[in-house]
Amino acid sequence: MLNPSEEIMRELIHDQRTKDSIYAAVVSPEGEIIAKGHTTVNKDNDPSAHAEINAIREACKMLGLSRLGKGYWLYTTFEPCPLCSSAIIWAGIDGVVYANNPGYRGKEDNWSFIPCREMLQRGKYLHQVKLVENFLIDEIKDYFH
Ligand SMILES: [Zn+2]
Repeated sequence: MLNPSEEIMRELIHDQRTKDSIYAAVVSPEGEIIAKGHTTVNKDNDPSAHAEINAIREACKMLGLSRLGKGYWLYTTFEPCPLCSSAIIWAGIDGVVYANNPGYRGKEDNWSFIPCREMLQRGKYLHQVKLVENFLIDEIKDYFH
């Protein structure tokens, strides 16, 4: 499986546009989406229920693991915030791919107030995570405008 996959990111971008929420997915070493999450902060009254966290929670629960191990990637339609970037490290995820970034967030606050790249860099002594930024950004950067 070669990451990043345009097919997987396009599916998440389509989900975001049609269901109006940030979308994230955990992808297995074989390249299958094993869990998908969207932001449910308001629905669940849970400030930590971001798309990435929801996808990681579901993947770990499904596999019965607290760390995902080698070959698992996380795809997300927006740059992971500091909370999610930390969860990515704790989950032992191998790589992250995101599409849109805070430069195109419209009137929304800057969720990625510490850039994902910086969070992963600071946490690399715990777990090293590969990062692909702004992947297919031209297909989603108009979303918040
Ligand atoms: Zn987040």
